[in-house]
Amino acid sequence: MVNFQKNKIERRGLMFVLSSPSGAGKTTISRRLLKTDSNLKISISHTTRKRRPGESSGHDYHFVDEASFNDSISQGTFLEWAKVFGHYYGTPAAPVEEALSQGCDVLFDIDWQGTQQLSQAARGDLVTVFLLPPSWGELERRLIERAQDSLGIVQERMSRAADEISHWAEYDYVIINDGLDHALEQVRAILDAERLKRSRQTGMNRFVKSLCQKVS
Ligand code: ADP
Ligand code: 5GP
Repeated sequence: MVNFQKNKIERRGLMFVLSSPSGAGKTTISRRLLKTDSNLKISISHTTRKRRPGESSGHDYHFVDEASFNDSISQGTFLEWAKVFGHYYGTPAAPVEEALSQGCDVLFDIDWQGTQQLSQAARGDLVTVFLLPPSWGELERRLIERAQDSLGIVQERMSRAADEISHWAEYDYVIINDGLDHALEQVRAILDAERLKRSRQTGMNRFVKSLCQKVS
């Protein structure tokens, strides 16, 4: 992991998007990433879908009803929103802006529709990654193994997977999640490299100036 605090170089925060067909591993990879990266905050979406076993409001999602979701749309509080699998999902803008202003990066687990909207609003700050499953059979196995949805919902998600996958080429990076450790390593490598981009290291000018003063 790159230690940006060591030399205290000011850096512009980035918006890191992970998308994939349902079941390919976004949530698993996001959780593992967040555990080891204190500079990364997750954006918690609002959704009108039902809570799954083990999920809690404010942690996985803010579970809301349609009236409340529509209020948020009309008040303009979402950075982006979309209808996915018949339910509404939206990213509240305020926590994202707060995290970025504190110098943190923000992780988004959103679909291709949301990614397109963020891309229009903030392309320069956006880094997008698409996760693919190693095979169709493995995607179905993971959805069934997760055991959080009924068989009908698993089938519906499988039938939408091809549509989600058809957007893979709109993303900056593509990873096949064949092994969790390797996929996680690849996601971390992207994050590290993107953080080191010269354009994001806004304090580098000052650092280089003081560096050169010390040698002359
Ligand atoms: P998503 O958030 O993309 O819908 P999840 O992260 O919930 O997907 O993963 C779906 C299931 O697949 C979970 O049970 C998870 O433990 C499992 N899984 C994720 N990545 C892998 C992997 N590389 N190998 C095997 N199982 C995996
Ligand atoms: P799930 O119901 O499995 O948690 O998520 C279903 C899909 O909705 C996933 O593709 C997930 O990335 C997407 N999603 C979750 N939150 C948001 C959001 O705020 N905006 C958009 N556009 N998609 C979201």
